[in-house]
Amino acid sequence: MGTRGFTTAILHSDRSRPIEHGALHKPIHTSVAYGYADARDLARVFQGELAGYTYARQGTPTTSALEDKVTAMEQGIATVAFGAGMGAIASTVLALLRAGDHLVSSSYLFGNTDSLFNTFDQLGLVVSFVDATDAANIEAVLKPETRMVFVETIANPRTQVADLAAIGELCKARGIIYVVDNTMTSPCLFLPKRAGASLVINSLTKCIGGHGNALGGAVTDTGLYDWSTYPHIHENYRKGDAAKWGIWQIRKKGLRDMGAALAADAAHHLAVGAETLALRMERSCANALKLATYLEAHPRVARVYYPGLQSHPQHERARALFRGAGGLFSFELAEGIDCFDFLNRLEIVVSSSNLGDNRTLAIPVAHTIYFEMGAERRASMGFGDSLIRISTGIEDAEDLVADFRQALG
Ligand SMILES: *Cc1c(COP(=O)(O)O)cnc(C)c1O
Repeated sequence: MGTRGFTTAILHSDRSRPIEHGALHKPIHTSVAYGYADARDLARVFQGELAGYTYARQGTPTTSALEDKVTAMEQGIATVAFGAGMGAIASTVLALLRAGDHLVSSSYLFGNTDSLFNTFDQLGLVVSFVDATDAANIEAVLKPETRMVFVETIANPRTQVADLAAIGELCKARGIIYVVDNTMTSPCLFLPKRAGASLVINSLTKCIGGHGNALGGAVTDTGLYDWSTYPHIHENYRKGDAAKWGIWQIRKKGLRDMGAALAADAAHHLAVGAETLALRMERSCANALKLATYLEAHPRVARVYYPGLQSHPQHERARALFRGAGGLFSFELAEGIDCFDFLNRLEIVVSSSNLGDNRTLAIPVAHTIYFEMGAERRASMGFGDSLIRISTGIEDAEDLVADFRQALG
């Protein structure tokens, strides 16, 4: 990204490589296959000796342009884009770990990631879920077989903030791969690299795309992990610059073998969305703080969970680490108010899944995205049946406050 500002760098990144006709956007390349005048070049591309494209499951010029943007935003060395955030998480873990390896995960997780890690546990990985708001809890479960630690920056939906920097130091000292899911903060609010992350996950569907019109995910290598010491890099990928071994294996094993490829038109939507990330995040964070502050003082609201509020247990940590407290908060209505009746009274705010959309969305999490995991696991994640999650959009703040006021009235 050099010395340029965040938004300047994204806006002009496509032009860092020549584009046909002087176009300002990278075009949407829909070709599945790529031909070569010299068949030896085709072989060289397959063998990793020449940069190029072979078959769209492993990438296209359009997905590469998006990957370059994400790499620049995260200040990393390389990125692999996937068809969804879940594809990025599944591929990263499956490409790097083997049966018997120990994965330590925060217990405060996006519901589908929690479900995925339970599947991996059944396949022979050993998974420990621990309270990641204190690095000591992670340290307490480490074993010689621990190869990876996985945390979210601000946990979905209860907004616990992981002990990001201390966990980074712990992983560095033990040579453990540290994976940080940056979806809730986005590289605009936080660079996991600064906390020692080896790999950064982003669901591009959320804040980076921003418009709720395309799915995508990415994993970025920050360049901090020494892959030359990692025992599970396949012989074929122990070639050239060791800094790229890990991400190369993720691209090959994850994208090529598992096939969670990102379509070119989705990549284009996401790249256009990324241009306004910083502007949208600023507005969405301001709206979240305004609404959370309003609701915390409201007699019909029992509790509000938002790292931007002083009442939040990790408020100071969030202030120290993040440029803003994010566009997501959750809250519980006072005893006796039905959460569905309340949601039905909202006029602007939409009852809907997704987050990081330009529109403000509300969802009763225990009954929807966290339904499958059961009451006991939900309680261990710190929330009960009445919790409502709000993802704030970029509407005018007064309209949002007025909508909540009338719905609570
Ligand atoms: C949505 C989400 C994901 C998964 O991303 P998709 O693009 O929906 O597959 C992963 N992690 C977090 C924190 C999320 O919010």
